[in-house]
Amino acid sequence: MRIELESLLNLQETDLKIRKLLEEKTECPKRLEALQEQVEEEEAGLKEMTERLTQLNKHKIELEDELELENVRLNKSQQRLSTIKTDREYQAVFKEIEDIKRANKEREEEILVTMEQIQELEEEIKSRKKELSQLKKEMEAERKQVEKVEKELAKKISSLEKERDKLAAKVKKDLLRKYDFLKDKRQGIVVATVTAGVCSGCHMNIPPQLFNELLRDEKIHVCPTCQRIIYAVKEKEGAEA
Ligand SMILES: [Zn+2]
Repeated sequence: MRIELESLLNLQETDLKIRKLLEEKTECPKRLEALQEQVEEEEAGLKEMTERLTQLNKHKIELEDELELENVRLNKSQQRLSTIKTDREYQAVFKEIEDIKRANKEREEEILVTMEQIQELEEEIKSRKKELSQLKKEMEAERKQVEKVEKELAKKISSLEKERDKLAAKVKKDLLRKYDFLKDKRQGIVVATVTAGVCSGCHMNIPPQLFNELLRDEKIHVCPTCQRIIYAVKEKEGAEA
């Protein structure tokens, strides 16, 4: 029976290689995807900062315009002050002048603060743009690398699949059907060894009677627990494997 299983074992080995390569193929673009996500996040952050910069510049211009208008009003009031006759009117205009001066001083301070914020933000944007451009270069390099690796993997997989078809043709139909049915359910390991009465697929004990039959090697058996196709390996042989 072991002879009959040889072809199936060869098939399983090839299928496991294909399986591993397919996993590599799935894993391959993960870093690229992470970089793409990072680029998108950075771009969104930059867009937000640029919008904030526009707002700050707008705010600064508004303050400057207000300041200009209020200075005109201040001049007018100051000129009026020298022509005023009554004390009461003088007090009123004087207060108005003081109010304008105070408000303008506040405006000037706010303009300065805004200018500082603008400068800081411009520097931050500049450095973030530099980082983004570096990140994009990294992403492009990774993209090329991924394309290369994916091509290589596809080539290997395709050649193994051809080999697989040849090997599958050598396996008895009923065995092959059983194998194909269990392949994905058992993570690619359908044919398992049994050593010292334990199935290597599920690590459960095989009933002693079945184990004796396995040792006689007269027909194909399946593990009562995991349904894998099993064959006995003498303990020494198993230790080497
Ligand atoms: Zn088992």
